[in-house]
Amino acid sequence: MDSYDIVIVGSGHGGAQAAIALRQQGHEGTIAMVSRSHVPPYERPPLSKEYLAGEKPLERIMIRPPAFWQERGITLELGTNVAEIDWMRRQIVCGDERRIEYRKLIWAAGGDARRLSCPGSDLAGIHTVRYVTDVDALRAELLGGARRAVVVGGGYIGLEAAAVLRKMGCEVTLLEAQSRVLARVAGETLSEFYQDEHRKQGVDLRLETGVERIEGEAGRVTAVVSDTGETLPCDVLIVGIGIVAAVGPLIAAGASGTNGVDVDPYCRTTLDDIYAIGDCAAHANPYADNAVIRLESVQNANDMASCAARAIMGDKQEYDAVPWFWSNQYDLRLQTVGLSLDHDTTVVRGDPASRKFSVVYLRDGRVIALDCVNNTKDYAQGRKLVEARAEIAPELLADSSIVLKDML
Ligand code: FAD
Repeated sequence: MDSYDIVIVGSGHGGAQAAIALRQQGHEGTIAMVSRSHVPPYERPPLSKEYLAGEKPLERIMIRPPAFWQERGITLELGTNVAEIDWMRRQIVCGDERRIEYRKLIWAAGGDARRLSCPGSDLAGIHTVRYVTDVDALRAELLGGARRAVVVGGGYIGLEAAAVLRKMGCEVTLLEAQSRVLARVAGETLSEFYQDEHRKQGVDLRLETGVERIEGEAGRVTAVVSDTGETLPCDVLIVGIGIVAAVGPLIAAGASGTNGVDVDPYCRTTLDDIYAIGDCAAHANPYADNAVIRLESVQNANDMASCAARAIMGDKQEYDAVPWFWSNQYDLRLQTVGLSLDHDTTVVRGDPASRKFSVVYLRDGRVIALDCVNNTKDYAQGRKLVEARAEIAPELLADSSIVLKDML
């Protein structure tokens, strides 16, 4: 049986960074990264942006050149699904029944794209955007002549995909079940701005509209029937309705967790010597008033990876990284810092019509987050306000002639 000091499950942002951080922090023992993916670690954000657009090939989205892993003595076990954890024996059990022994286990399995479950949802031509293979399949259909797309879901992935498809000349209809896009992550001003922008760019955006069923011919999607009774013909359907945390084997082994797997401030699960990081890890986040949440961002995956690596190396430091995120749609670069959940006040700096502005979110008079559109200066300086939970009068924040750093 193969045996490693540290086994990392998953080769996404979290898994890759965990291996890198362990080596950086002086771990000299053996490390294996075991992943279902057949491709060495690559970045996910370009999948709904430049990679989908064909502007960046796979080589340019690799987290490190493929030789890096071997040079650092990190064994990649690709194309390997981990089906079970036998934590009493400190072993993982792979899909082919092969067992691998570990001293410490880092679970970085992310999440699986949520799928539609209505009639017709198993037809060909329905795509999710999570892995490189998903986007290759979608691109092949677009390059093969698919021109009419329906996108389900007005979160970041659905909106980014819609923007790319419009640039590629497709007809795009986007369905969002809620009353505004980005409802889960941003305030109304930002939602309205992006709704207007997508409509101006030619997206047929329908709010408060879900999917009733999907119609097809010869096993392939031909139309989406909305729950408002409309039939929307399409050649491809893109589903961007979130993820389900990939924690089945951990929960089956007895780890605690309801939405993902619970971890403490050092990314430890409730099972001995098993850590969890990234999209699947539910943690009390200091930037959310210590509410237990999962964050789905590169920042969170990378910073949790470093936190777990430090804890394993005996240099325990609680996870308290400031959350940040970005999204590119058309020529708009959105940068977000902090978490706007439960804000009670919003302040707009600048004029959204100028396509350069920021939204500042406050709770109890303190700055908790900013969404900055084409405004990197506010983003960089606002970060300090969020870190300091600065108490600043809304009227002052609204004055965009005063730079944020002067308000601290
Ligand atoms: P992942 O990167 O998803 O890695 C999980 C890994 O685990 C995969 O390699 C998977 O194959 C493997 N795996 C899963 N289950 C098993 C198993 N049972 N056995 C073995 N291996 C398994 N974040 C941003 O901050 N900015 C962005 O602009 C942005 N854009 C995004 C665009 C897209 C299309 C997507 C999909 C995500 C985007 N994100 C963005 C989110 C960000 O990429 C994720 O938060 C991040 O990748 C999470 O890292 P992770 O390591 O937790 O999971």
